[in-house]
Amino acid sequence: MSQEFESLKTAFKEQFGTRIDFLRDSAVYSSPLYMFLRALPKGADLHAHADAILPMSEQVAFLKDHPELVITPEWQIHYTGVGAPYGSRTMSECLDEGLTVEDFRKQWTVLGAGSERTWDWFEGIFTKCGSICTTPSLVLDYYTRVLRYYHSIGVEHLELRCPFFGTRDDALARAQAFLRALETVRSETDPALTLRIVACAGKNDVWDPQFDTLMDNAMYVREQVKDGDEPLVVAIDIVNDEDRSYSLARYEERVRRILAEHPGLHLTLHAGESLSGENNEIAIALRCGIERLGHGFNLYRYPLLEEEIRSKGICMEICPVSNAALGYCSDFAKHPAAAYRASGIPLVICSDDPAYQADEPLVGDLLAVAVGWDLSLEDVGELCRNSIKYSFLDPASQARLLSKWEKDWAKYVG
Ligand SMILES: [Zn+2]
Repeated sequence: MSQEFESLKTAFKEQFGTRIDFLRDSAVYSSPLYMFLRALPKGADLHAHADAILPMSEQVAFLKDHPELVITPEWQIHYTGVGAPYGSRTMSECLDEGLTVEDFRKQWTVLGAGSERTWDWFEGIFTKCGSICTTPSLVLDYYTRVLRYYHSIGVEHLELRCPFFGTRDDALARAQAFLRALETVRSETDPALTLRIVACAGKNDVWDPQFDTLMDNAMYVREQVKDGDEPLVVAIDIVNDEDRSYSLARYEERVRRILAEHPGLHLTLHAGESLSGENNEIAIALRCGIERLGHGFNLYRYPLLEEEIRSKGICMEICPVSNAALGYCSDFAKHPAAAYRASGIPLVICSDDPAYQADEPLVGDLLAVAVGWDLSLEDVGELCRNSIKYSFLDPASQARLLSKWEKDWAKYVG
């Protein structure tokens, strides 16, 4: 099996090189290496953002099945009825009138970014698609599809970044819908499947005023919604474009207080998702007490922090396809996390916002580093093992999942 992997990797590299464009080059998805990685037991995806997960064809299919959602002339998904702008159409109407999945791909992925900064276009996609899960019944259906999809690509555990907007009751209803989706897919496929939520707030101008509400809702949900005995909400995070948002420093005291008031709550923070060497985000994230680091792309600019991350055994959540889509790295052979890994920092490979950045969650991310960093099959296995080892699952669930994954891996790899 290892030999087969090596020859698939060589053939892939000859055809595509290490600058792989997961949005424009559809041939990548039918390559034998992609198929091989798709079938591998992968463990977990520990960094994926809510409502930005399904491949575009599945996003379109979801909307087609929900005529209560319409698409406005500005390509914005809107709940039908009061406030839906004139000219809004259901997905069925759009398709009947000749629009295709490709048209939506141009509007709802970074493929459509023109001369403007990619991040601006990217944040615009969240504005356009942010209402895809407006109600608990939409959440239930969307995440039933998401978990089925993850199961179909060999993923057993998802840690979903999710904000809890609205009132406490809205938050509760949304969380209960996640849990129902999990129970549905567990009963259909695999009782070992798990889902946990990393509750998010944000640090740009739109999110910032809601920070306290989002965190209050998240902690309310943590108390109220359990999968068995374990809280569905396991951790918190703060998101948005780092180079143009408020610094994490603005939230440091509040993050410390929330952690102190909620024993067992984990912390992972987006920090270092930048090319700049002039911000202190990773240092602040460390001061806040992170157990995992979201991205940490520019850590190479801070040797002392790199040493601290290594000595503390903090795991970095690396999202290579996202980094390429947002312009941080165009050649996976030059992705800085190869050196972080080589120096002994534990990594997990994650998908970030696959609906808007690629065509499928996680498989491409593993392929990018397998090819870019010339990893052996054993190395890929180590990354998958890490995704369970560094998950925020409670120790018993983690041990259960790890032993299942070891068996599945041994069976697959032989
Ligand atoms: Zn992210």
